[in-house]
Amino acid sequence: MKLRLDKYLSDMGCGTRSQVRRDISKGLVSVNGVPAGKADLKIDAGTDLVTVNNVPVVYEKYEYYMLNKPAGVVSATEDRRDRTVLDLIRDKKRDDLFPVGRLDKDTEGLLLITNDGALAHRLLSPKKHVDKVYFARVQGEVTEADAELFSRGVDIGDERPTLPAVLEIVNSGACSEVLLTIREGRFHQVKRMFHAVGKEVVYLKRLQMGPLKLDETLAPGEYRKLKKEEVDALC
Ligand code: URA
Repeated sequence: MKLRLDKYLSDMGCGTRSQVRRDISKGLVSVNGVPAGKADLKIDAGTDLVTVNNVPVVYEKYEYYMLNKPAGVVSATEDRRDRTVLDLIRDKKRDDLFPVGRLDKDTEGLLLITNDGALAHRLLSPKKHVDKVYFARVQGEVTEADAELFSRGVDIGDERPTLPAVLEIVNSGACSEVLLTIREGRFHQVKRMFHAVGKEVVYLKRLQMGPLKLDETLAPGEYRKLKKEEVDALC
């Protein structure tokens, strides 16, 4: 893959286009050991060695982060009022990252942040039916009858009932704890499914999306890069 030197550097978080052009003109940037004279020099990201102040800058086409989304932060790239999930990714290099799907502001848990649009499409496409696993605390006694209803699909007021979902009761009581696996991503889907059976979700956390599992060592608000095998499993 070939790209302009100034884009290469700004994509890799070395500064804005005008900042990196200044560095190039000051002779701080070298390509294969030779000071680069021009910002529009074509770089082969696979073979050329680019350095800034003698420090190598390796090009990565895609960035992938697993975030344990905390409550109180919105799943958006920008927001006029609230902090966004992207504000939490302090190490990001690129400015074209986005969250793969949305969690409600009060929902916690697994959120993938990337600039890989094709991967996002595969995970989110309604046709692909990627499983999403949630842990929920629900006000009211969740019963096997609810699990039976969920397994057949629930009318949540949309054109079609939900697809069959798997409800596993962890604890049942005045406040129940459950694991719910759904294959769609409709707006407020989990909350609406419980609402449809007369119960309210009081806490919601996503644990898994397709093969990607939340790293439970991440506290809410923490994130890490995806491991190579995690990216491969998603591709
Ligand atoms: N279902 C919901 O109701 N909320 C979420 O954030 C995710 C799934």
